[in-house]
Amino acid sequence: MKLRVETNRENTLNELEEVIRAFAPHAVLDMDGELISAEISEIIAGVHTSIRSSLAPEINREYAMEDGLSDLMKKRLSKRYLKRDLYDYLVILTGKTLSYGSLTGIRPTKLYYELISEGVDPESRLTDFFRVTPNKVRLLGDIVATQDGIIGAEPEKVDWFVNIPFCPSRCAYCSFLSEVIRPKKSNLPAYTDALIRDILAVPSSRPRRAIYVGGGTPTSLEPDLLDRILASIDAKGEEFTVEAGRPETLSEEKVAVLRSRGVTRVSVNPQSFKQETLDLIGRRHTVEDIFRAYDLVRKGGDFDVNMDFITMLPGESFEDFRRSMEIAIDLAPENVTVHSLSVKRGSVFAENGYDNRSDGLAERMSDFACDALERAGYRPYYIYRQKNTSGRQENVGYAKPGKVCRYNVDIMEETHDIYASGAGAISKRLFGNGRIERLAEVKEIRGYLERIDELIEKKIAFFKD
Ligand code: SF4
Repeated sequence: MKLRVETNRENTLNELEEVIRAFAPHAVLDMDGELISAEISEIIAGVHTSIRSSLAPEINREYAMEDGLSDLMKKRLSKRYLKRDLYDYLVILTGKTLSYGSLTGIRPTKLYYELISEGVDPESRLTDFFRVTPNKVRLLGDIVATQDGIIGAEPEKVDWFVNIPFCPSRCAYCSFLSEVIRPKKSNLPAYTDALIRDILAVPSSRPRRAIYVGGGTPTSLEPDLLDRILASIDAKGEEFTVEAGRPETLSEEKVAVLRSRGVTRVSVNPQSFKQETLDLIGRRHTVEDIFRAYDLVRKGGDFDVNMDFITMLPGESFEDFRRSMEIAIDLAPENVTVHSLSVKRGSVFAENGYDNRSDGLAERMSDFACDALERAGYRPYYIYRQKNTSGRQENVGYAKPGKVCRYNVDIMEETHDIYASGAGAISKRLFGNGRIERLAEVKEIRGYLERIDELIEKKIAFFKD
């Protein structure tokens, strides 16, 4: 179906189109499409919205604006009215509702905190104004409660991110710039040397809050290279995560390296416990590899373990997903992260035109994961939403009490500076009043290796006071 949205508020156009895409992910937004007009005009002491098309009866609404609102607040409120009314119009047109209602373009927890700071009851505002469903409102409330005492704590400290973008094969849903390891043409020693220089160039005067070594699959590296990189980080007992996302990359020797270098948290990511699914998504490992890796980590040290899962993987039924969740709960890792499948540009799924429409299944899976994990004693502690996810669902991290990964909260809530090293890594500095500056390193490995001197100089300048 072709659609077109027109508005007299050009700065809202992208977000209005987002609302349409949320209902009709495969609708083409095109100049020849069926016109939906969304307009807003000022009236005495308020605004008037109007949503019209030839497809359904029009909506016309008037809203009073409170005295004393700043121009910025008025603009923001007007935009929210217009988006919400377009949402209501599309509900009538399609007969569908969405879990997150008219919420697009803002992190749900950011809005939740914003409403609290304005003295508004977030639960009723999210439900009544934004049309968020009660179960998602409850999820957001639970996340905010879990973050209490963690969000924004230790503001003098900084987080470290180190990127090792190599994997044994490419997952079909992956859009990261991760390179498949080619044993005979390995650039890993050169990358290790450059990365260590990059890590050592980071200013060390500020205390660290958390360290996160991600990728890629850092444990794809041979033990000697992994050891050199982790040694250069020089951990001092901070929260220290290393992603071992692909279970087949772990060995007893590598786990010993993680332990000896002060790693506290390891991510072993099944995505699914169904072998046919693993084969379909290009993981090239077995279900037994996941159990073996989990066992190695459990026996090899006192690590917290995270496990990632994805809803709506190809061919998976609700029962398949439920079984994966139940196996995970039996294994009892400290953290479980449940992602909604997102078809992103650059992934094999996107290239093959994989259709991840859900017809309610993605919602069922996400809601089941939330209920089952909460019943098993986990608490949701961070959330983010992406475009093109099945059923417009979310990604949520769950933790056993006292086992929240601070790095994940900090990065999602943008509360701390991030010192980042490695190809494609993005450093971040916060300057107060919401101002954030970012410094991105070169994404491609070759460019990173060629330009490492220049990148280090830029980083030193970026973090200079
Ligand atoms: S393990 Fe992660 S980074 Fe590596 S290919 Fe799969 S999704 Fe991409």
